[in-house]
Amino acid sequence: MKHSPKIINNELNKDNFNFKKKFGQNFIVDKNIIHSIINKSNIDKDTLVIEIGPGAGALTTELDKVSSHVIAYEIDETLKPILEKQNLKNTEIIYQDFLKRNVKEDLKKYNYKKIYVVANLPYYITTPIIMKLIQDNLNIDKIVVMVQKEVGDRFKAKPNTKEYNSLSIYLNYYFTVEKLLDVSKNVFIPKPNVDSVVVCFTKKEHKTKVDNEEIFFKLVKDSFKQKRKTLKNNLKGYDLDKIEEILNKHNLNLTVRAEALPIEIFAEIANNLNVNQNK
Ligand code: SAM
Repeated sequence: MKHSPKIINNELNKDNFNFKKKFGQNFIVDKNIIHSIINKSNIDKDTLVIEIGPGAGALTTELDKVSSHVIAYEIDETLKPILEKQNLKNTEIIYQDFLKRNVKEDLKKYNYKKIYVVANLPYYITTPIIMKLIQDNLNIDKIVVMVQKEVGDRFKAKPNTKEYNSLSIYLNYYFTVEKLLDVSKNVFIPKPNVDSVVVCFTKKEHKTKVDNEEIFFKLVKDSFKQKRKTLKNNLKGYDLDKIEEILNKHNLNLTVRAEALPIEIFAEIANNLNVNQNK
């Protein structure tokens, strides 16, 4: 089915909406993109959906149709009159900074089997939002988000590429990450300076075996402390003999850089470090 590309432009013009750059306000005006995101998300009536930044409601109105519960967090209260006109039936809109919100508390009153996050994110806080989604322990099954292209590349980066960093490993530990769509700048108003991608994070049923997550994440963070430096330089104070022994098993040594190591080797090192060290 073909849809007319412009959908909410008129609404926003009518309301004389003043776009706020500081909130990353670039709204989607192409219905085909919205439909692709909805189709690829596979939402059903058992799924509770969290949206961060409904804006003028382009995505929210469609989420409202396919899910029985949508919780949308919007920082900009001036969008309230526009969102109220959308006549949303299954959506609760909370006008607050998502980063400051106790989301677990908000979820308590709902019954659901799966929890998805579907959003066109405000790009200035993409990483803090993703980190919050993980650290709040919401047990999210799937995250489908539009992000800046370069950031999307970093999320799904593989070892030995310049995009690979500690965040890639962190995300890779919890989720399988894949790109769903390339999105041109031309489908937004106002038009942003960067291209976008829609990425999907699906919860891993079988995570890499890590005995102590605290030690594992600290090791990863320390290993990437100075990206161009070798492990030997970044991991001063660690049991380097033990680390070298493990690296040797993989035909590597301490002159390797963190960017060359897959998650499994980090896990193996972390699992062999003495728990009481490096605290
Ligand atoms: N979903 C809409 C769309 O696709 O057309 C708007 C997306 S726009 C890229 C990002 C939205 O996030 C804006 O509406 C902005 O006001 C909102 N926003 C920015 N910072 C936020 C925050 N900290 N908490 C909640 N919403 C935020």
